[in-house]
Amino acid sequence: MKAGVIAVQGDVSEHAAAIRRAAAAHDVDCEVEAIRTSGVVGDCDVLLMPGGESTTISRLLADEGIDTEIQAHVAASKPILATCAGLIVAASDAKDDRVQTLDLLDVTVDRNAFGRQKDSFEAPLDITGLDEPFPAVFIRAPLIDAVDEDVDVIADWEDNPVAVRQGPIVATSFHPELTADTRLHQLAFFRDKQAVTPAEADQ
Ligand code: GLN
Repeated sequence: MKAGVIAVQGDVSEHAAAIRRAAAAHDVDCEVEAIRTSGVVGDCDVLLMPGGESTTISRLLADEGIDTEIQAHVAASKPILATCAGLIVAASDAKDDRVQTLDLLDVTVDRNAFGRQKDSFEAPLDITGLDEPFPAVFIRAPLIDAVDEDVDVIADWEDNPVAVRQGPIVATSFHPELTADTRLHQLAFFRDKQAVTPAEADQ
C-alpha cells in the first residue's frame, strides 16, 4: 500500500508514523510518501491531510496544483483521513475567504469557534465503530456547525459533531495522529479488516 501525507505544512511526521503503525497492526506493507508537489497523489492508495494552518495549506495546495489531484483521488473513491486543518480544507465551506476549500465533504466549519472557547484539551470520545472511548486531542479545533444529510456523524463533543464520514473520507476536528492510539487511522483505511495486533499500538 502507498500512503501519501500532504506535506505542504502541518504535523506531517506524526501522520506518517501513525499510518505506519496502523498498517503494521494489519500486517500490511506500507510505503509512506510526503507530498509537496503535484504528480504524486495519483500513485497513492490512501491520503492523509494533517492539521496545521488551513489558510496556508489551502494556498500551497492550489499553488502546487495538488488541490485538483486530491479531488480526483476522492472522485475515484480512494480513502482520505483529514484532521483539524485538514478537515477545514476538505470542507465545502470554511466561512473564511482565505481558505480555498476543496469541497470534498459536505460540511460547514467554523475555523476558530472551538479554539477560542477552549484552546487545547484532551477528552475521551465515544466514536461509532470503536468499542472503547478514543483519547481525542483538540488543538484550536474547528467546529463543524452544519452537515449535509449524506454525512455520517461518528462522534460528538458537547452536542457538536467532531468526527464525520462521507464516502471515502473520514475527518476529525481533533488529532488522532498525536496519540499512540491508531484506531482512527484503522477505521479510515482498514475498516473491513480485523487487526492482527492490538488497536492501541504503542510501538
Ligand atoms: N485553527 C487552525 C486553522 O484554522 C487548525 C488547527 C489545527 O490544525 N490544530 O487552520
